[in-house]
Amino acid sequence: MQAQRQRKVEVTTAELSRRLLGASLRPSMQRLAVLGDLCHHYDHPTVDTIYSRLHPQMPTLSKTTVYNTLRILCEAGLVRSLNIEYANQRFDGHLEPHDHFICTGCGQVYDLPHNRAGRLPDFGDMGLHVEREEISYYGLCRECQEKR
Ligand SMILES: [Zn+2]
Ligand SMILES: [Zn+2]
Repeated sequence: MQAQRQRKVEVTTAELSRRLLGASLRPSMQRLAVLGDLCHHYDHPTVDTIYSRLHPQMPTLSKTTVYNTLRILCEAGLVRSLNIEYANQRFDGHLEPHDHFICTGCGQVYDLPHNRAGRLPDFGDMGLHVEREEISYYGLCRECQEKR
């Protein structure tokens, strides 16, 4: 499998609505747009990137609304936030288990296949119950290696 960066995937509005309703969220225009953006792109965008992609079609949309919508979608488990950069929080609409590779040259975030069969480590003997994991690898992508 190739490391994935910009793969575009089509998810229908009906499917986005179904996901929102399944999480007891009203499928408002803003929620459909923000969730759609994250489901259609694999580039782990920041709030600014999502805003700049949606604003041309939704001139009344504010950055605060994008931010608040992301918070609601995260709390509902429909998207996840990635803690890979201190200053710029990034978001991921792809919930199937996968790891990330962050290029320290260009900052791109690549999806990596998750080879552990979805199993979480067991720290039960330490009294800890693991609910999710977030694994990131750091290095240089192919393009940045070729530039050196
Ligand atoms: Zn790179
Ligand atoms: Zn991802």
